[in-house]
Amino acid sequence: MIAQAGYGNIRKYHMNEGHSALLTLELLNHRKRKENDELDFEAVRSQCVFTTHTPVAAGHDQFPYDLVAQVLGEVISFDYLRMLAGDEQLNMTLLALNLSGHVNGVAKKHGEVSQAMFPGYPIDSITNGIHALSWSCESFRNLYDRHIPAWRNDPLSLRYALNISLEEVWEAHMEAKRAIIEYVNRHLPKAFDPDVFTIGVARRATAYKRLDFILTDTDRLAQIAKTAGKLQLIYGGKAHPKDWPGKEVIKRIVNLSEKIDPSIRIAYLENYDMNLGALITSGVDLWLNTPLAPNEASGTSGMKASVNGVPSLSVLDGWWVEGCIEGFTGWSIGSAEHPDEVRELYNKLEYRILPTFYNKREEWIRIMQHCIAINGSFFNTHRMVQQYVLNSYFA
Ligand SMILES: *Cc1c(COP(=O)(O)O)cnc(C)c1O
Repeated sequence: MIAQAGYGNIRKYHMNEGHSALLTLELLNHRKRKENDELDFEAVRSQCVFTTHTPVAAGHDQFPYDLVAQVLGEVISFDYLRMLAGDEQLNMTLLALNLSGHVNGVAKKHGEVSQAMFPGYPIDSITNGIHALSWSCESFRNLYDRHIPAWRNDPLSLRYALNISLEEVWEAHMEAKRAIIEYVNRHLPKAFDPDVFTIGVARRATAYKRLDFILTDTDRLAQIAKTAGKLQLIYGGKAHPKDWPGKEVIKRIVNLSEKIDPSIRIAYLENYDMNLGALITSGVDLWLNTPLAPNEASGTSGMKASVNGVPSLSVLDGWWVEGCIEGFTGWSIGSAEHPDEVRELYNKLEYRILPTFYNKREEWIRIMQHCIAINGSFFNTHRMVQQYVLNSYFA
């Protein structure tokens, strides 16, 4: 299809997940050895690279060979296909692994997790990024335009955010915060307050993401809100229509939002999409991420928060293993020393995060600056594409 569309001279084919791996079979047929008309695995391998995206099993497609025969026919001999894609079923990931010259996971940790899943295949990592210009809100775009004009095409220069005054960073943040709070108050009868510490949790509602993790012990949470300072939680996220456990999580959060102690407000916003995602990631004070490790391959919403100066409190999984500098760009949950994740979450909120936000505002805004300068400047697509070019396409 690519050749028919007029793109004949492709140097590298980049397979994103196994879904596109059938292209290797087509290439095998097109690049047979001239001398004897045999399949040339090495030639195809030198033209293909592969990125795997998830440790979750459902993300790795497998198809029975009788279905393959029925739908595709014999693209290459089934003996060869079984050798390349697995004996039992056509495993799309295995097919891609066997015919790619470079393979990567989407964060350092995910590279290691994938390496353990597929021993025998060297797996590198190239950490995901977000498009800084698209995911920064208007007030921060204006701030960067004033102080760091090069940032739009060179987000590496966001490192100079360390030179922007704390007052201006705070002003830009409060503008974004008022926008999401007004949105919440327009859509729900909740009376959210822009001066109250606001936590954002928005992503696909599926079990391993554990959206309701912070609500494990609502009594403890209410006690924290009373002693360390009030809390508001803004939720968003849809479940797949067939993901019943995912829908149960949403139900549980909405039920709790109606009966939780009044020192805590909870809003579950409908219609989570990229626009609402941008509004939430830019407007809250803290981004909360509590997936069940090691299932989060990378995660990107915390990166969106970073480029808007919003620190994360997150389980050490995916990109956060690289992005977290404790107390500097945010906070971690769940290290080898603290296997009790939920207690660690509550302790950090009570003793470090809320006191800094409410009583040491300057220190808080410095943390916001570090998020932009250290993480916004790095976890973006400009850096990511350069690494693909240097380490994968031309390696
Ligand atoms: C960013 C985003 C996601 C992905 O967020 P993760 O942290 O990678 O899970 C999903 N949906 C929407 C609408 C988003 O904006």
